Amino acid sequence: MSATPRFCFACGGPLERRMILDRPRLVCSRCGEVTYLDAKVAASTVTRLDDGRVVLVRRSIEPGYGLWVMPGGFVERGETVMDGAVRETYEEIGLEVAVDGLLGVYSYPETVVVVVVYTAHPVGGRLLSASAECMEIRAFAPDEIPWGAIAFRSSRDALTTWTRMMRDGATPPAPAR
Ligand SMILES: [Zn+2]
Repeated sequence: MSATPRFCFACGGPLERRMILDRPRLVCSRCGEVTYLDAKVAASTVTRLDDGRVVLVRRSIEPGYGLWVMPGGFVERGETVMDGAVRETYEEIGLEVAVDGLLGVYSYPETVVVVVVYTAHPVGGRLLSASAECMEIRAFAPDEIPWGAIAFRSSRDALTTWTRMMRDGATPPAPAR
């Protein structure tokens, strides 16, 4: 998913793997600076239309080409996670959304991405039929979600959480800004 860096950020020297505390880390062989491989933060929304359906996008890029996922993407420096979720949702599906709650934070030891998922509802814009990174945009009722064709473990887990909440009539906690 993301390439391992080969050169030191501080001095450009070649990196080598060395045990530091509990695990092998990338250490500059010239200046000794450690390059930490941080998690990447992605944000997405489960956007629910007035009729109760959720909007999913069918990816036209790898990873997950041809599979369905909630609108979302990587959070940029200089924006809040929530603003990132709202921005990515607008860019991908054309709807301006307001966040209702924090659905969950999804991370796994084998992936580099931490996905923060909010529930949201439209407040403007117009639902697109496709966009730059998605070949198709569609709204699904909770019992229509294409479980066999969902792109990522985080999306499956978030949609599972959401459909359970819909079934139980629960609402997610309001997010802190
Ligand atoms: Zn260095």
